[in-house]
Amino acid sequence: MQARFLTLFSSSKGNAAYIKYGRDEILIDCGVSAAMIERALRSVGSSLANISALFITHEHGDHIRGLPVICRKVGMPVFAPVNSCAYLEPSVANAKSRLHPLVSLQPVELFDTVVCPIKTPHDSLDSCGFRIKAGDEKLGYFTDIGHLSENILRGLSGCRRVVIESNHDIEMLKRGSYPAALKRRILGENGHLSNDACSKLLPHLAEHGTESVALAHLSEENNRPLVALAAAFSALDSAGVLALTAEREPVADIFGQDPVISPAASMKVQVAPTCGAIEL
Ligand SMILES: [Zn+2]
Ligand SMILES: [Zn+2]
Repeated sequence: MQARFLTLFSSSKGNAAYIKYGRDEILIDCGVSAAMIERALRSVGSSLANISALFITHEHGDHIRGLPVICRKVGMPVFAPVNSCAYLEPSVANAKSRLHPLVSLQPVELFDTVVCPIKTPHDSLDSCGFRIKAGDEKLGYFTDIGHLSENILRGLSGCRRVVIESNHDIEMLKRGSYPAALKRRILGENGHLSNDACSKLLPHLAEHGTESVALAHLSEENNRPLVALAAAFSALDSAGVLALTAEREPVADIFGQDPVISPAASMKVQVAPTCGAIEL
């Protein structure tokens, strides 16, 4: 049995991802309206009513916009970083019984998956990303990270599939129309991960077993999918790792022989769309 791992929405306008493994259906973040999330879940064969746990990375609007309505309609438990909880409480119906604080490096055991929150450097009250164990497989989900901490690197190590932030092209951001203070915030240690920083990480991930990556939380103002992909491909190329797009993925198994390209030497790289589900 293999986990399903999808991004549903990904950008500074709103984020959500979906994981299904065994008896668990997990929603990570709900940064667009409840109706949009319901539509996206239905398009991949699920529904808010099926979600067994909702995990929040942090309390910024693009990660929690749908929270109040979702919590009024559906009764799943909500897990959020401990210092975000007081802020989120008014948005969570029956918060006393269903809002659970996440403490970095303290895993949450669901039925068939184990979700380990890992603190992320970001300018919110609190924030985390996730390393998820689904059977023998590990999955990584990290967005809104100013820089790659030692614990994030360790958390990503061995994750076969990874959603990772590739927020901005540094030159586009510097030349762009954002106010100076906002530029400084985004570029800072607790801001967002640039294409450059993200792409430098990819060869390291490939070395540690990552086969599929979705570049996530792209800035609509200071990035373009092809710019983020080009940075990723060039870094992988320099390290001797063959970067594959979703379309170029080899399907050699049907011919009854080994895949042409060994997984350790290649990585599937795609951009998580602003709106629209993709499977890792
Ligand atoms: Zn965000
Ligand atoms: Zn944020």
